[in-house]
Amino acid sequence: MSEKKERKTMPGEALAVVEEFEPGEGTYSNGDSVRAAAVGIAEFDLKQRKVIVKSPVKKPALPTKGDSVEGVVESAQSNVINMRILRINGKPNEANFTGMLSTRQDPQRRGRRITVAKVADLMRATVYSTKNAIIHLALERDNDGVLSTVCSICGGGVVRINDRVKCKECGYVDERMLAPDFRGV
Ligand SMILES: [Zn+2]
Repeated sequence: MSEKKERKTMPGEALAVVEEFEPGEGTYSNGDSVRAAAVGIAEFDLKQRKVIVKSPVKKPALPTKGDSVEGVVESAQSNVINMRILRINGKPNEANFTGMLSTRQDPQRRGRRITVAKVADLMRATVYSTKNAIIHLALERDNDGVLSTVCSICGGGVVRINDRVKCKECGYVDERMLAPDFRGV
């Protein structure tokens, strides 16, 4: 006989009687029965006569078309920017997804070609496709763009001047596709 037995549970479901099993983590005792406190997997320890309910491991949310994502620019070449996604629709996401932003299209949509973002910038973008398991991003919404950056020459803090950023330390003026709520550093 194995020492552990498992089964799926629903909240409030009776798992055992208190005489047989001691209520453990994720369970509660209701009079003479031990019940599940949440959806999960009930694990009966037959040796210790104890039952616990483990929550199912949640898979990280996968970005889907139309999601608003925020992240850090990991590489910025002339045609493509790779961004490590830190938030999906405002919720923190620790799965380390990388989104790809083609910079050939977006700047032109706003009239002229400028530097979209540089490495280490914090940026917001919209997922426009997840075809072939590649997360394609676009600066599609009005609030997409760079959220914070530092001077690319000296690393100093910057202030926004119209569509550009100016270093508070050395005065260097640089281009970015800035989000309307750009917050400098
Ligand atoms: Zn500077």
